[in-house]
Amino acid sequence: MNGDLVMARDPEAAQALRTLHDDLRECTGCSLCRSRTHVVFGVGDPNADLMFVGEGPGFNEDRQGEPFVGQAGRLLTELLGAIGLARRDVYIANVVKCRPPENRDPAPDEIEACSPHLMRQIAIVRPRVICTLGRFATKLLADTESSMSVIHGKAKPREVAGVQTIIFPVFHPAAALYTPANRQVLEEDFAKLRRLLDRGIEVPASSEAGERAAADPSVPAMPEESSNRSRVVPARTEQLPLW
Ligand code: SF4
Repeated sequence: MNGDLVMARDPEAAQALRTLHDDLRECTGCSLCRSRTHVVFGVGDPNADLMFVGEGPGFNEDRQGEPFVGQAGRLLTELLGAIGLARRDVYIANVVKCRPPENRDPAPDEIEACSPHLMRQIAIVRPRVICTLGRFATKLLADTESSMSVIHGKAKPREVAGVQTIIFPVFHPAAALYTPANRQVLEEDFAKLRRLLDRGIEVPASSEAGERAAADPSVPAMPEESSNRSRVVPARTEQLPLW
């Protein structure tokens, strides 16, 4: 996808992201500001159909100010290439925008402080599909306590930041760097992601915030949390597993 064409398609989105980025360059919203080199905002097509959301910057990302530029980032680029996409075709961001010291997990208060910035990015980009990379992004955006081993490679229509989108969790690429079996799982999930992008997902107009959908049967649906099961009405039960 040509970057100039993207700008012409919706220059307001590009400008809105630039303004938000500028607003965050000196952010002191949580304690991670004290150890960062750069706020790692996000990168890619401001009008992308597909957005990736990871956990937080690592060493290389902190130094360069760009998400997914280390080993895990190279794997993400390879996985994208295998389904016919380049980094410039998608938008990439993280749950927290400053590197947690020693690459520790982001703390709940840090996620709470930073996630509104991610929500504003989503509201600007308005992606059709958000692929969550790992458990932190998945928990935040799919609002689920389910294990990644249960819900990876499955789709869930959901309204996020006022945008009707589809959450599609996969394992974080870092988990596959030294484990060939994990890499194979990621490759299989990216193949499903390609089908999801190609074939789409129909959300009935009468559904509650897009919670029911008729999906490509080759892209399984993410199971619902048990508390929601009473209101589940699959649109095409012959093809769609219960949400
Ligand atoms: S992690 Fe987010 S909220 Fe915390 S200082 Fe960085 S940009 Fe601000």
